[in-house]
Amino acid sequence: METPIEFSMTIDGKAVHAPRRFDVLDPATESVVASAPDAGAEQLDEAVASARRAAPAWAALPLESRRQLVVRISEVLLSNQEMLAELLMREQGKPIAAARQEVQAAAHWCVEMAGFDLPMEETIESAEERVRVLRVPLGVVGSIVPWNFPVVLAVWKAAPALLTGNTLVLKPSPFTPLTTLKLGELLRDVLPPGVLNVVSGGDALGPLMSAHPGIDKLSFTGSTQTGRAVMASAAVNLKRLTLELGGNDAAIVLPDADVDAIAPAIFWGAFYNNAQFCLAIKRLYVHEDVYDRMAQALAELARTTRVGPGDAEGVLLGPVQNRRQFERLKNLLEDTRSQGCRFLTGGEVPEGKGYFFPVTLVDNPPDTTRVVREEPFGPILPLLKFRDVEEAIARANDSEYGLGGSVWGGDAEAAAKVALRLQAGTVWVNQIHTLKAGKPMAGHKQSGIGVENGVDGVLEYTVTKTVSSKRAH
Ligand code: NAD
Repeated sequence: METPIEFSMTIDGKAVHAPRRFDVLDPATESVVASAPDAGAEQLDEAVASARRAAPAWAALPLESRRQLVVRISEVLLSNQEMLAELLMREQGKPIAAARQEVQAAAHWCVEMAGFDLPMEETIESAEERVRVLRVPLGVVGSIVPWNFPVVLAVWKAAPALLTGNTLVLKPSPFTPLTTLKLGELLRDVLPPGVLNVVSGGDALGPLMSAHPGIDKLSFTGSTQTGRAVMASAAVNLKRLTLELGGNDAAIVLPDADVDAIAPAIFWGAFYNNAQFCLAIKRLYVHEDVYDRMAQALAELARTTRVGPGDAEGVLLGPVQNRRQFERLKNLLEDTRSQGCRFLTGGEVPEGKGYFFPVTLVDNPPDTTRVVREEPFGPILPLLKFRDVEEAIARANDSEYGLGGSVWGGDAEAAAKVALRLQAGTVWVNQIHTLKAGKPMAGHKQSGIGVENGVDGVLEYTVTKTVSSKRAH
């Protein structure tokens, strides 16, 4: 992007600027891509007020009309795909092909979500009364999104919130606000004013949203630590919450697995988006009979996967998204090294501009090391050897997280039995990351509260209302 364009927020269907702005960096070069408005309490109040004004008319529209507008969001995404993908690559760091995939996935999600047949009204008749059980919108939804998949995760919130008749105040991460601001701008003429407001800001804006008395529900995706802070401040007006938080997903490779056939799926299951993926494989438990072969196959894939700037030919993994995360990963690497662990690949961070981090495989570190206990959220994967399946299940479940998991084996039935015993909301057998709008995703333990996607996830944007009418005799 040669001449930085001016990015504005969208409030009440109009462009809004803030008295201050902040720079957004390209993680591949550390140069400024553009600046974004740094909204304070005043702009947030304006956005919430505009969403509140728009809420009654939006809720009163027939579901069919809202469906059509959610499909329109998909069309806008697709007709601006190249521009949005280029911007996403610049601010997020991911390779251009992955940025395109993300825009397409977001568009596809809108269409799938819009197609949901929602039980918005049920009637129960008896001799004495007629009972209508309605699902009504909550009002104003606040959505807070992280920096790993800024477009897809914004849509995961916007589509169900709007479909069910809520209006929205959407806040992207301060590290990746630009594509979301642009999308808000593109939708100004598509949605009625105030239905979708997009605000950007620094670290102070999220807490202002979770404490805002004019927001009825918060749908938050981010770390478990921030989730706890959000939950505490949401108590101010008993906000409804959906929290999609961190994970430390285990994958278990059983002794009868066809290692060569599954290694690529496991590699990309761990490293897609530079492992900055809540559902990435973050601990890989491999049976001792196949451990060495798996280690070799993954090391070979790591060596042949090019890490570099998102617009360079052949690059499959970009830089880590931001300096804070880059420093955290370097610290984790040093801690792992200081414990005497061996690296099968990687382990050396190159000097120079950009947050480039090598794909790093750690050879059977102790379960007590930080690289096993913590969520790295970056390309460091511990390979852990096991002898007995019971032992692998117990070790996999020994985590405060319960987001996802996978089991890989030649006997799919036996693998599925193991998968059922993993304490996680989303588990896969001999495949991974087959996400669909129709599949509910719930974080168990400290990986979240509530559900995203599926009918259950969509209905989290509604509240039950029961109307009982006495029959005339
Ligand atoms: P983060 O928690 O630092 O930030 C997430 C968002 O919250 C950002 O928009 C940030 O500005 C905002 N925020 C920060 N402090 C806040 C506060 N006190 N109150 C309200 N909002 C606040 O997370 P991150 O580093 O951007 O993202 C990485 C984390 O997100 C990882 O832990 C990852 O596992 C998790 N994640 C989870 C899912 C999921 O679906 N479960 C998906 C993607 C990422």
